[in-house]
Amino acid sequence: MNGKKGGVNIFELIKKVVFTDFVKGLMVTLGYNATKSITLKYPDQEKWIPYRRFRGLHTLNRDEKGRELCVACELCSKACPTQCITVIPMEDDTGRGISDRVARVWKVDLVRCLFCGYCEDACPTRALRLGRDYELACTDSSCNLKQREELLVPQAVPESFEGGVVASSTFIVTPAGIRIKADLAKTKRRNW
Ligand code: SF4
Ligand code: SF4
Repeated sequence: MNGKKGGVNIFELIKKVVFTDFVKGLMVTLGYNATKSITLKYPDQEKWIPYRRFRGLHTLNRDEKGRELCVACELCSKACPTQCITVIPMEDDTGRGISDRVARVWKVDLVRCLFCGYCEDACPTRALRLGRDYELACTDSSCNLKQREELLVPQAVPESFEGGVVASSTFIVTPAGIRIKADLAKTKRRNW
């Protein structure tokens, strides 16, 4: 017996009469109501600090003597699938970099960047890495073009910091706009 009578599936008919699908959906909703909220009080109270493997804004590194690690080899721009990195090299003997060849221009267009990480993989001196700064929204398109000088400034979350936590946060008003400053001493781990 397959539950069919006169072309009508009797089981389907019963399910419709007692609203089985509706009750199932309601149970899912009620189940979520009983779980702990994962809403983040961002940006005025809490800020998510990503894991180290996160790929955010590019950062250019220096060595322990403060010399730029970038040797302007242009491998990052060659590896970039969207060709959004521009490197223009120049000779320099003032000790600015670890070699005589340094970048006169190093810039990345974030509008075209996929944050794929190919550029940091290609870098032979570990000068380039994608950091954890993800607050990149702005109202002026010119701020999407990030220049060497800006990228050489260490990001707020040090590379050694573990991440994967929520930190207490405060607003900081800067000439470039409002930034969210995370208090790394006050963090909580959340299991998301
Ligand atoms: S992350 Fe990818 S798309 Fe962005 S600059 Fe690097 S290689 Fe290009
Ligand atoms: S960031 Fe690295 S790959 Fe790019 S030009 Fe500098 S040294 Fe070469």
